[in-house]
Amino acid sequence: MLSTISRQTCSRRGSRTVSSMLGSPRAVGSVPHFQARVADVSSPLDSAPGSIPPVFNTVPLREAASTVRPVVSALHHDRDEFWRRVPVWEDVSAKDFLSYRWNVRNLVQTKRELYSFLAAVLPEEVPYDKPGTRMQTRAEFIQDVDAGITAATMATRMTPYILSRINWRDPRHDPIRRQFLPLRSAMMPDHPKLTLDSLHEEADSPVKGLVHRYPDKALFLPTSACPTYCVFCTRSYAVGADTETVTKSSLKPGRRRWEACFAYMESQPGLQDIVVSGGDAYYLDPDHIREIGERLIGMPNIKRFRFASKGLAVAPARVLDESDGWVHALIDISNKAKRAGKAMAWHTHFNHPNEISWITSTASQKLFEEGVMVRNQTVLLRGVNDDLETMSALIRELADNKIFPYYVYQCDMVKSVEHLRTPLQTILDLEAKIRGSVAGFMMPQFVVDLPGGGGKRLACSFESYDRTTGISRYTAPAVTGRGKESKVYEYYDPIDSLPGHPPSEVSIGSQGRSARSRD
Ligand code: SF4
Repeated sequence: MLSTISRQTCSRRGSRTVSSMLGSPRAVGSVPHFQARVADVSSPLDSAPGSIPPVFNTVPLREAASTVRPVVSALHHDRDEFWRRVPVWEDVSAKDFLSYRWNVRNLVQTKRELYSFLAAVLPEEVPYDKPGTRMQTRAEFIQDVDAGITAATMATRMTPYILSRINWRDPRHDPIRRQFLPLRSAMMPDHPKLTLDSLHEEADSPVKGLVHRYPDKALFLPTSACPTYCVFCTRSYAVGADTETVTKSSLKPGRRRWEACFAYMESQPGLQDIVVSGGDAYYLDPDHIREIGERLIGMPNIKRFRFASKGLAVAPARVLDESDGWVHALIDISNKAKRAGKAMAWHTHFNHPNEISWITSTASQKLFEEGVMVRNQTVLLRGVNDDLETMSALIRELADNKIFPYYVYQCDMVKSVEHLRTPLQTILDLEAKIRGSVAGFMMPQFVVDLPGGGGKRLACSFESYDRTTGISRYTAPAVTGRGKESKVYEYYDPIDSLPGHPPSEVSIGSQGRSARSRD
């Protein structure tokens, strides 16, 4: 899943240097509030100026449909209050942490907020190489983050939930940190074949924000904002605020643009399946979820649709917050779709078992009881989930939470994430070892989304794979048009994984010392 939110955070990035921000380091525990300004994307579909922006709007309580049965009773006060292990949140009650509004108020998204947070939660030194062999000071780590943000294609934004799932005693090696907080010292030079829009989505868009590649399926991008930004986002050409390396292609919510997308969907009798993504559908107002859902249900040609959102992985409390209307809207649309004989699902995006907590489980149980089909799409990431134990545990935990493990994706060939890509062989090995260890209906498809717009193919279905050059070749017979009839698509392994290739050298920002690029 995965514009211009140019005004969003770029204007907030400010010009202060890290050193000036660190000039008066605060003591651990002394940064209790991150006054995250929540304005992110102004939308022509929004209500009055100054209102809470789309994702944070809640329907009035009277509209929080009584048709939805609360499972908040399942929340026990003796559940682990893990967020209290983060020094700045040691006094935060479960009631507050489970409030979506508290979560919104405590988003970390500006440099000032991020560096204040890091200064408060990091120890004086953090492990650099293997824990205990070499250390980086707190200031060096923050400087490394600052240089990482400068080089990244994605803006930084993290929810309190995701921040509370990181081990701040050893953030460099933490699988959650690796996904959302870039370190310059971990980055590698881009592979020469890496591009921004590697899947050629813009080329396959007959209407702005609608990608039509497969005969029966289209991808609708109503927004380009997300509650948390992933450093490896495939849609980094459009999602999130402008960064110092990328001026984003605008996909702001707007009625005229949406209507053009709807009109296209209605004009294509072969279209049956719509993915509503972005950005992230969590960033849509509940009324927008209803509007989009009802439009799709009303189209005779559309049989299936899904809302793609990482929300369950990065802000699960929202599902349980009865004062918030997003999940009520989703459940209502799910039920309306069923009554109309159509299928609606939520496609979410978990990459590591540490993203799953008792809050996730309670939220998933609520969705299960309400009959909402939830499927998961995982991205295979180096140092996050590229080992058998972690991937197996993730698949099992998803299944235990009634989340269908649908896809494991080979990491796309996008800029600035070479350190997170694995060679194709890794996904082949994982698929081979996991198949047979879990029930077949829980077995995800291990796929490569072909660079150049060939669509998803089973990773093992390559025409050829040269492990010396790292080049694998695929065909995609079902994807036609725009000169794709006999096209051969190539995926390239990371250069540092090729035989005889040492890891690259990258300097640690302004520290001026060289380091191995793999963290
Ligand atoms: S949730 Fe992450 S991967 Fe999905 S669109 Fe947003 S930034 Fe991209």
